[in-house]
Amino acid sequence: MKRIKQTLSLVLASILVAGTIAGCTPTNTATTAGSSATTAQTTAAGTTSGGAKEITFKPGTYEGEADGFHGKVKATVTLSDKAVTDIKIEQNETPGVGDKAIETIIAAVKSGSTLNVDAVSGATFSSKGVMAALEAAFTKAGADINALKSKAKAEVKKNDIEETADVIIIGAGGAGLAAAVQAHQDGASVIVVEKMPRAGGNTIISGAAYNAADQEMQKILQMTDLEKATVEKIIAEDQTDAIVKGWQEKLKGEWEAYKASGATYLFDSPSLHKLQTYNGGDKKGNPALIDELGEGASAALPWLNQLGMKFKEHIFTVLGGLWNRAHKPEKPLGTGYIEAYMDYMTKNNIKLYLDTKADELIMKDGRVTGVKATGKEGMVTLHANKGVIIASGGFGANNDMVEKYQKTWKSLKGIKTTNQTGATGDGIDMALKANASLTGMEYVQLLPMGDPKTGSLSGNIEQGVQDRIFVNKEGDRFVDEGARRDVMTSALMDQTDAMMWVIVDKHSYATGDVLNNFNESIDSLVAEGRAFKADTLEELAKKIGVDPVKFIASVETFNKSVDGAADPFGRTLFANKIDSAPFYAGARVPTIHHTMGGITINTDAQVIDANGNVIKGLYAAGEVTGGIHGSNRLGGNALADIVTFGRIAGKSAAQGK
Ligand code: ADP
Repeated sequence: MKRIKQTLSLVLASILVAGTIAGCTPTNTATTAGSSATTAQTTAAGTTSGGAKEITFKPGTYEGEADGFHGKVKATVTLSDKAVTDIKIEQNETPGVGDKAIETIIAAVKSGSTLNVDAVSGATFSSKGVMAALEAAFTKAGADINALKSKAKAEVKKNDIEETADVIIIGAGGAGLAAAVQAHQDGASVIVVEKMPRAGGNTIISGAAYNAADQEMQKILQMTDLEKATVEKIIAEDQTDAIVKGWQEKLKGEWEAYKASGATYLFDSPSLHKLQTYNGGDKKGNPALIDELGEGASAALPWLNQLGMKFKEHIFTVLGGLWNRAHKPEKPLGTGYIEAYMDYMTKNNIKLYLDTKADELIMKDGRVTGVKATGKEGMVTLHANKGVIIASGGFGANNDMVEKYQKTWKSLKGIKTTNQTGATGDGIDMALKANASLTGMEYVQLLPMGDPKTGSLSGNIEQGVQDRIFVNKEGDRFVDEGARRDVMTSALMDQTDAMMWVIVDKHSYATGDVLNNFNESIDSLVAEGRAFKADTLEELAKKIGVDPVKFIASVETFNKSVDGAADPFGRTLFANKIDSAPFYAGARVPTIHHTMGGITINTDAQVIDANGNVIKGLYAAGEVTGGIHGSNRLGGNALADIVTFGRIAGKSAAQGK
């Protein structure tokens, strides 16, 4: 089985518009969405000018290799006596992030025949990996590495910008781009600013599961007795809120009708989705917002489809999702959503300023009228005729802010995160200065699924909740693996060294080239030492250093639960036994994932101030908002949230509500 390899060649550079190669592009120049990525690539890597000292090479083709974010990055460099004529890269970096950073860097290296190139912000490991691989190749060519590394960079030209559009959006992640598309569809002119050198935010690196009740699709699944009992329990639960009671009533009717029909497929409905979301967040979420989420998630499926976002013919239960209602994108991670939005933006000339950080909101007579931002070449002042949408994501990558606000964990100081580096809570600070109120800031979500080295979700070998178990260093199961994310992470924190092994078998990986949710094949993970494979459970236990007797007993007990025995941890989500070789194990640790709290909004995504009034001209959507997920977000609900509320914010802002 082969490792997933992507070859990037400098032939790619030829698709760059002439004049946008590093060193030639004014970095703050607004681009339409399609070319903005190109601009970002060329601006982020730094630029070179003709050096003082002429550098010569021994003509030929040379190879170099180094560690990237996901295994090795291999560079093949072809040199003439004075220039780099071709660079080919084999890599397995994060789609839409690491691979884009590598494209940026090789374009800069090639255009300037230089190694004096900056790492691409938000893709440090990939940048370092490709630079080290290139350096190794240049060293083999006998090049003067010091001279290549000290070639002068071109000076950045000063260029302040001032523009006006109907709607200005802060953040080009999933919520911001959904808002941009919707606002434009509703007739508004739109400008988006993004502080990173690429669009996509956390959305593009997420597992990207999308929760939406979709009964027709869910008919491919059979319903178990345990699942039936779950629905009955939810209907019978004591609720006090009138909206929530309304969902229960509706669900009761739907459930009775389902039972009367004699159906055996898996039941679902937006009412059940809403109730599970509300209950799963300890009833702390705002029912009015959850109502929008449950309806909006299902309603957005055809909208996404029209934009070109494709889902697999497959429904699964994502970690902490509690129900089989997650739709899996065809394209890896969150790339499908972002590509679909960017495609729409390109076709409709919606401007996107990359590398441009919003610093403050412009206010006039109590109304938000624009945004002041800093670009690479100077100030960017954007005026909004109708409204500003904050869609700047959460603060999971700002460990000080997490520590300042979170109250549900002992201390999260120094705990790694799944988040991209731009998730620092800027939008919350800006909104506070406009007197916005905040909701649920104390609720920070951790996942038990971090890569032990990086905290990222990559390398996670689970394919869905039903077919895997967790064991600790002793080889014992320790939690219901179908439980809420906070419950599982809390239990993991109590285990030896706060680490665990995810155990799966052939049911998850029929062959070695089957990919996980992060576009990695199981064989590549095994080859890189990030997963372990064995033909027997005993052999697997030995490979991962757990007690084989306890380990085999854990698997056997789980298998009995699959057959209907009461599970010792109360687990209710099952499909297959773990009984078919090969068996696999992957190590995981707690990692900071999502910040549930943020800016208070109403059902029109208008921002609410400290006195409970709407702040005119200001809207917010996505992870920057609070009040939807309560104390714990269900797996698969983030994408549902950002699509739903991104669209609502876009619609409201376009109307200047
Ligand atoms: P959501 O899921 O809510 O859309 P994402 O993390 O996907 O959140 O996207 C949020 C985007 O906002 C990220 O791309 C992030 O880099 C960007 N962002 C954060 N702060 C700022 C800022 N001050 N100016 C511009 N963009 C920002």
